[in-house]
Amino acid sequence: MRLPDLYTRQPKTADIARGHWATIYGSILPELRQTHAKHQPCPSCGGNDRFRFFGDWETTGGAICNQCGNGDGFHWLGQVTGQGFKEVCRLVESVLGIRPETIQIDISELNRKARDREEAARQQIERDAERNHQRLHQTMSQVIPLSSFEPGSVIPSQSWSGRIDRP
Ligand SMILES: [Zn+2]
Repeated sequence: MRLPDLYTRQPKTADIARGHWATIYGSILPELRQTHAKHQPCPSCGGNDRFRFFGDWETTGGAICNQCGNGDGFHWLGQVTGQGFKEVCRLVESVLGIRPETIQIDISELNRKARDREEAARQQIERDAERNHQRLHQTMSQVIPLSSFEPGSVIPSQSWSGRIDRP
């Protein structure tokens, strides 16, 4: 006789982690402020106040970042550590004492990666701004004020060279 699934099913890591996210985050990402009430830097992409825990974060680990999205605790641990779901599950189990082996994570290394990503994003914004500025400058240098045209002069529309051919 086959036993019903209820008796044979192993609890999933997500079930075990449920309600323990204060402990899990406290061990893995101790720099996070454990409150729903405050915005704070994103553990994945940095910033100052783009990250916020959901109201039920202690149950699900859920949070949202204005820059890199939202998800539950497994999502965030995967995002921050760069590990797949399986590894994240092992990490969570290790923190909760379900697995004998402990897994070391270098938090300072994670923080450094987050800072690098933030810096790269900032530099990209600067590069974009500089390019737009140059484009604008180039366009403006080709603009000829209307007042410089004599009445009746023809503005050449073809083969525009940046100069007005006076009649
Ligand atoms: Zn983020």
